[in-house]
Amino acid sequence: MSSKTRILTGDTPTGQLHLGHWVGSLENRVALQDEFECFFLIANMHAFTTRADKPDEIRASTLEIVKDWLAAGIDPDRSTFVLQTEVPGIAELTWFLAMLLPFNRVMRNPTLKTELETKGLGENYSFGFPMYSVGQCADILVFRPELVPVGEDQLAHMEPCREVARRFNQLYCGVDPQTEDEEYVRAGGLFPIPKAKVGRVARLIGTDGVNKMSKSLGNAIFLTDEFKQIKKKLGGLYTGRQTMDEPGDVNNALFQYVRAFITDAERVAELERRYAAGDNIGDGHIKVEVAEAIDRLIGPMRERRKAYEGAAGDEKIMSLLREHAAKANAAAEETLHLAKKAMRLDFGRRVISFG
Ligand code: ATP
Ligand code: MG
Repeated sequence: MSSKTRILTGDTPTGQLHLGHWVGSLENRVALQDEFECFFLIANMHAFTTRADKPDEIRASTLEIVKDWLAAGIDPDRSTFVLQTEVPGIAELTWFLAMLLPFNRVMRNPTLKTELETKGLGENYSFGFPMYSVGQCADILVFRPELVPVGEDQLAHMEPCREVARRFNQLYCGVDPQTEDEEYVRAGGLFPIPKAKVGRVARLIGTDGVNKMSKSLGNAIFLTDEFKQIKKKLGGLYTGRQTMDEPGDVNNALFQYVRAFITDAERVAELERRYAAGDNIGDGHIKVEVAEAIDRLIGPMRERRKAYEGAAGDEKIMSLLREHAAKANAAAEETLHLAKKAMRLDFGRRVISFG
């Protein structure tokens, strides 16, 4: 095991990556690659919890997201990519952890409730849907990270993960329940109690001006969007403001984008001042300025992504994922071995070979 502290985080392949991912998590991942030993996960098994009828889309999205990672600056030589379905230890740990979380605790998770509503899952959601919340604890804990860079919506999932880690350590490793979170491993626990690291913008609003920007809600600006598309999407953002001299609300959705993407702090302050005062400034103008700023950010990503276009690009990604599956399994199997030992389930050590 490397001496560096570990990070784990990831994305569900239900679409392509968008600006919310960048400000919420991706930007941190790129920045932390040197300092930490990083594991980045594609939660393709979890994608099936809402899209079991769309295996082709899940597969395509898996490849697209890895391309997005590479385009955004994640370096496969420094970080390990984890394809969830190729790491059986994750599913196995999910079962064990499911025994340590009360069912009603899982169902009270506010993020899960919001998802049921916004994704229109209604009454007939699958048994597997709430299970993904437990699965996510296993995704994280199997790599025993200390830090998890995520957006704000994931904080509600981090709490059960932290609880279940404490409970496992107490039940099976004999750690005293009074132990401080930071001390669990020193006290003999297997799992560090992981902390969330929320990005520069905790929750970027979508271009519908209402919901969190989400890849599955049709309100996202994707990292692959061209300037014209960015401008069009921002153009549709409703502010309710009619004229250039009407005082505007600098806390509206448009100004969330202004602050998130215009990097010149003085210009941001000037826009805020003029907008609040209704000083001859139109929403349309500000939208174009924001679109230009976004284009400056993602233009280089679009360029880097060209190296992975088409069937040849797909093949590069496939071989990268295969190569990394071996590394990911080595780390996960080590944890499973130790976890099962702690649970008195050590009946021999298995070897996973990956071809
Ligand atoms: P889905 O609609 O399928 O749930 P999503 O857009 O919410 O997709 P996820 O794969 O669920 O994306 O989230 C990946 C990571 O990106 C998580 O850490 C999440 O908190 C973060 N994230 C997603 N959307 C935003 C956002 N709008 N603002 C900040 N962070 C975000
Ligand atoms: Mg989500």
